[in-house]
Amino acid sequence: MLDKVVIANRGEIALRILRACKELGIKTVAVHSTVDKNLKHVLLADESICIGAPSAAESYLNIPRIISAAEVTDAAAIHPGYGFLSENADFAEQVENSGFIFVGPTPEVIRMMGDKVSAIEAMKKAGVPCVPGSGGPLGDDDEKNLKVAKRIGYPVIIKAAGGGGGRGMRVVREEKDLLRSIQATQSEANAAFGNPIVYMEKFLENPRHIEIQVLADGQGNAIHLGERDCSMQRRHQKVVEEAPAPGITPEMRKSIGERCARACIEIGYRGAGTFEFLYENGEFYFIEMNTRIQVEHPVTELVTGIDLVKEQLRIAAGRPLSISQEDVVIRGHAVECRINAEDPKNFIPSPGTVTRFHPPGGLGIRWDSHIYTDYRVPPNYDSMIGKLITHGDNRDVAIARMRNALGELILEGIKSNVPLQKEIMADENFQHGGTNIHYLEKKLGIS
Ligand code: ADP
Repeated sequence: MLDKVVIANRGEIALRILRACKELGIKTVAVHSTVDKNLKHVLLADESICIGAPSAAESYLNIPRIISAAEVTDAAAIHPGYGFLSENADFAEQVENSGFIFVGPTPEVIRMMGDKVSAIEAMKKAGVPCVPGSGGPLGDDDEKNLKVAKRIGYPVIIKAAGGGGGRGMRVVREEKDLLRSIQATQSEANAAFGNPIVYMEKFLENPRHIEIQVLADGQGNAIHLGERDCSMQRRHQKVVEEAPAPGITPEMRKSIGERCARACIEIGYRGAGTFEFLYENGEFYFIEMNTRIQVEHPVTELVTGIDLVKEQLRIAAGRPLSISQEDVVIRGHAVECRINAEDPKNFIPSPGTVTRFHPPGGLGIRWDSHIYTDYRVPPNYDSMIGKLITHGDNRDVAIARMRNALGELILEGIKSNVPLQKEIMADENFQHGGTNIHYLEKKLGIS
């Protein structure tokens, strides 16, 4: 097993990685910014190193400082968590070139999946269903582009190859707007991502977001761990996630899951990963792959009993997968509510000191968070401060437990989205299951 791991992240995911390392007997190094010296995982780690000022560019995105931390502590590997440098192929490459193990896929695979055009191309080749589209970058031949859109059928969406975070896309409903929209998306993409390449897809009107979790060892073995439904979103940000997805039968799961696992073998994938799909009228359409652990991984852990972060670490240590596809059994249902330090009505971040805190408990309740009474939520990072996850024999039980748990959670001193989460859990259509990606914004009256 690995001897020592640098945790190149902060907050709840850093604590999650620390817990997995401890269970495996791996020593831990926390790297943190000046405002984060009192983070829970920093206090619990074997060693900690301050790597810079609060701004992420000075600390959690500062590649030389993170690699130096691994050097001075004589660590074996670096775990990037999610966000920050987790999908930065140059970082993965520099980690490897400096003689450390990157807990994740190879730099080549991260790079291929980071460019949406090459990702879609690879997925098509591997037999993963994609959204009908241009099948490559759009050139500057207007006639050809008009023809492509006609073939796909309006509405279409123009998307940036280098896009991310829900930015760099434009929906076109009528032919007369097409050429102007292509140009506008190209120049926006160039300004935002330094890459003007755009492509075209059929715009799906009312899809759900369903994603498949995979694990691969890079040694020819890959499995899937079923799906998650993450359709409850605001501004393309997930708010509630669950596993399994309502209405997905074991046969559908097997069919799409096995295709993803096969694709992993074909592209030489290593580590934990997620294939994101839009799901409409019974069909899956690949949109992108996340080459890292995801925020919502705990719902999969609760229904499968498999510790995904420990598996990441085992794979990074060079071990072949210890679980086979037959070992993966989906039991019951799990729901996750992201808890954000923000105003529940206008979503403005609400940093500050947590004056009183008490987590919920009981059967089937999991609370993944780094906060404690007197902890000060800094204004410099993402506003997510924890995740409440519940598990039950079926979806109704998981939701009932979530409603209890949200009611028990005491969090004072800062505003949080707990009232919004309570409202979602009490919503009849959510309780029925299967709402689409526009549902929450419509409910909030913002679309
Ligand atoms: P990003 O990397 O910026 O998150 P994605 O490709 O994952 O970009 O798309 C983000 C969101 O944009 C999707 O979750 C969906 O809401 C919307 N979207 C993307 N492609 C389509 C499409 N072809 N039809 C409808 N909605 C889409």
